Amino acid sequence: MMSLRIALLGIYHESNTFLDELTTLPDFEKGHWLFGDDMILEYKDAHHEIGGMIEVLEREGVELLPVMYAEATPGGIIASETYNHLLQKMMDELERVLPVDGCLVVPHGAAVSEVFRDMDGHWLSLLRERVGGNIPIIGTIDPHANVSSLMVAATDGLVAYKTNPHVDQRQVGKEAADMLIRYLKKAIKPSSFLFQIPLAISIEQQYTGKDPCKSLYDYATQLSKEKDILSVSIVLGFPYADVKEMGSSVIVITDNNEKRALSIGRKIEDYIIENREAFVGVKKDISSVLPLIAESKKPILMLDMGDNVGGGAPGNSTFLLEILERSGNSKCFICLYDPNAVRQAEQYEPGACFKINISNDEDESKQLVINARLVALSEGKFKETDPRHGGQVNFDMGRIAIVQTEKGNTIMLTSLRAFPCSLRQLTAFNIHPKGFDVIIAKGVNAPIAAYEPVCPVIIQVNTPGVTQADMTLFKYKNRRKPLFPFERVW
Ligand SMILES: [Zn+2]
Repeated sequence: MMSLRIALLGIYHESNTFLDELTTLPDFEKGHWLFGDDMILEYKDAHHEIGGMIEVLEREGVELLPVMYAEATPGGIIASETYNHLLQKMMDELERVLPVDGCLVVPHGAAVSEVFRDMDGHWLSLLRERVGGNIPIIGTIDPHANVSSLMVAATDGLVAYKTNPHVDQRQVGKEAADMLIRYLKKAIKPSSFLFQIPLAISIEQQYTGKDPCKSLYDYATQLSKEKDILSVSIVLGFPYADVKEMGSSVIVITDNNEKRALSIGRKIEDYIIENREAFVGVKKDISSVLPLIAESKKPILMLDMGDNVGGGAPGNSTFLLEILERSGNSKCFICLYDPNAVRQAEQYEPGACFKINISNDEDESKQLVINARLVALSEGKFKETDPRHGGQVNFDMGRIAIVQTEKGNTIMLTSLRAFPCSLRQLTAFNIHPKGFDVIIAKGVNAPIAAYEPVCPVIIQVNTPGVTQADMTLFKYKNRRKPLFPFERVW
């Protein structure tokens, strides 16, 4: 038998539709945009789903045809011409490897372009059209996907990561690749069922290490052991996208057993509905958090939920920094995306003291001016090889400046947006997390995987910003109705 030929491809983005700024080509160029063998070089050993896929395909001795993979840091809606360009490139590259026996796909599941609100459903459908109905298409998605019927109809199986922070991406990539191989060997006939639950899980309740999600995932794992079940995915959803399919869902993949899929989907739906109040969450304001600083073990990880880089926020809010500067009795670390401040710092030599203007707001009167001492200037590149949220190895924050305020707080200023999912972001630049009372990270759950080993106390703070935790404060025009907790459904 000729060896099987498998194409590997994806466009991966989480788009926050509440941001004014669009995501454009440079965001992908500065992110991870790779073709052919460069995909293998970047991810072969990474804790990324593509790494898991490569491992299985190499083990099976099939012919791996890496096509294209494009990923940008979560941000605004993808500009129409950017999407067209990425899509055209991917389809052109695909032409060069066709015909294939199967496709492994790597969408995120929450991508929105100006024209295609269900962008993942759109490109997966075009892929289906091009390769035809008989060529299996199987892949992975992020549990922050808002899954559409189109995504499920265009593919033979989508498997979501089972952890948040996402530390099992490589494993899930292996599961998807295994499913494709078994299908091609005619050992199984996957069929997928999507259950869109009329409920959206609040962002800070999406941590899988604790309840309510821990018990929900345990229940799904238990059900996935039933006969003919190939995969059960809990998809938490991405609240910062005003799209029809926004909300939580379940994907059940069976070995051609519709009855079983329906029964399992309903059981999980019933479980979520029964426990719905637990998925709403408590929003802790900074006023209730401040008194905890003195009595808590250090360092405390404060998660700035309103400026969540992983949810598309810029990562430049000084809301928590200003409060800690004023309270003045705790040493904190914060990383801020601020190319202007980096340029100001570059005028000086390390050791110099100067006034720095932090451009957290376009309105100059609201900008923060701090007396600071320059600690270091550097290229912001670092590597992470441990399993951490996102599965990336190579990070680039652009030029960075590290300054210390008169109050003793340390600020890392970056020229590119930096996703706080690796301690190497600090340690590679000689910053030691254990030396702080408070570490502010711009995220909700993603940073936990990196910081849990050094931070005995972790607090999600309900801060203002474009990713504020209370989704009921956003004005949606396109979401499903009724949807809990926006409307009373039960
Ligand atoms: Zn995610």
